[in-house]
Amino acid sequence: MTTKTTATATTTTARLVEVFSAIQGEGLNVGTRQIFIRFALCDLRCHFCDSSNTWNAPNVCRIERFPGSRDFEVYSNPVTLSMLLQWVERQNIPHLHDSISLTGGEPLLHASFLVEFLPQVRSATQLPIYLETGGHRSEQLAMVLPYLDSVGMDFKLESVSGEKRFVEHARFLQLCDDSQVEVFVKIIISASTDVVELEQAAQIIAKINRSIPIFLQPVTPLVSPIHAEKAIIAPSPDQVLRWQADMKRIVKHVRVVPQTHKMLNQL
Ligand code: SF4
Repeated sequence: MTTKTTATATTTTARLVEVFSAIQGEGLNVGTRQIFIRFALCDLRCHFCDSSNTWNAPNVCRIERFPGSRDFEVYSNPVTLSMLLQWVERQNIPHLHDSISLTGGEPLLHASFLVEFLPQVRSATQLPIYLETGGHRSEQLAMVLPYLDSVGMDFKLESVSGEKRFVEHARFLQLCDDSQVEVFVKIIISASTDVVELEQAAQIIAKINRSIPIFLQPVTPLVSPIHAEKAIIAPSPDQVLRWQADMKRIVKHVRVVPQTHKMLNQL
């Protein structure tokens, strides 16, 4: 049985997994070049998680020496705001990056840190800030929303992830839609997707705003980090075609995009 993290970080230090430069492989920003700041800790336990190394706070983090080199220095956790700022500035060579990606784990578990860090990193790099999130912590989102340019929020289906957060997702998405932030929704689909649940998700999103882009992301097959005996199987082409058509009766924009960074064998 796994222990879930319930408290948010409250100091000006944060626990990181890594900082590196890469091509975004998912969602609305696919193909763009980003500086990734991967935060440690997550309070969800998705069956398909490909970042289960973030679930617990590691003693060390790794920082890429030069953007895209995959040559890393190792530092102790937690790290201070000024250290992180320095590492991001080192990555930010002229004309290379389109934005900074806050990823994890669940970056919003570090909301207090982000409230201090984000205005400083924006001023130092002039880069837009993009948040990747499980989409279930609206209180923490409200704290950092003024510093964000775009948000990619997951909408978890219990039939695929084992997590069901529909009420939290609705509150979170409403908050994004009420603000100036650009937002899209990512829904991971697998062979076990419950179509009723998928349609419920579309109805909830449509009630907030039918024009919010939805990305159906066929799961990259893997062995579940929660159930080692259970394989996570990608949906068939028939399923994907049918589910996209079903959802387009409810919401306007439904795109199907797999994890392209894995096709590139990227980190
Ligand atoms: S929210 Fe993301 S990091 Fe957390 S368990 Fe789910 S997939 Fe993994």
